[in-house]
Amino acid sequence: MIVEMVTVGPFQENCYVIGDEESKIGALIDPGDEAARIALTVERLGLAIGSILVTHAHVDHVRAVAPLAEEYLCPVLMHEEAEAMLKMAPQQALMMGMKFGKVPAVDGYIADDEVVEVGPLRLRSLYTPGHAPGHLAFHAEDEGIVFSGDALFAGSVGRVDLPGGSMQVLMQSIIGRLLPLPDETRVLSGHGPETTIGLERISNPFLVGRGAL
Ligand SMILES: [Zn+2]
Repeated sequence: MIVEMVTVGPFQENCYVIGDEESKIGALIDPGDEAARIALTVERLGLAIGSILVTHAHVDHVRAVAPLAEEYLCPVLMHEEAEAMLKMAPQQALMMGMKFGKVPAVDGYIADDEVVEVGPLRLRSLYTPGHAPGHLAFHAEDEGIVFSGDALFAGSVGRVDLPGGSMQVLMQSIIGRLLPLPDETRVLSGHGPETTIGLERISNPFLVGRGAL
């Protein structure tokens, strides 16, 4: 599996360009900003982008969705509960002194525990709210990778002080859906460096001692 991280925008958000090595079919996870740089990465990797997957609709994760959906003529997919926040993206951006541009259309919803196919690659959706409404993580089980969005970070967890946030719900999401993944699972999150489930289980100050459910 091809996985390339492109860190974009003022919030240093991690967009992931993923794809199948043989068929060269790919997808974008959270193209948050700097559409041109993401497109350049896609071109260098020689991928045909078939879908855009969104973990949640915070402005730093979706600002480049519309131009890239237009460029690749591909569907934009997210959880149904994330759509209301997406519609608020221009206002979210304005509060941070940024311009948003066009609000992308949502072409399909991904429910919990659904398999999203990227060519022969299979990503299972994990409903993980608490940081934002309708937050999804994407688990590429065969590859041992989880794209954790802003639910889980190396040494931290997502902030819960934005609209729709709840620490109790976030902890339920992490403990119930992410920590059960195998220890060696690579965690590629929406901000910051890569980690593993096992490392977070024993060292993340929010999770230590809470892993056994
Ligand atoms: Zn976020």
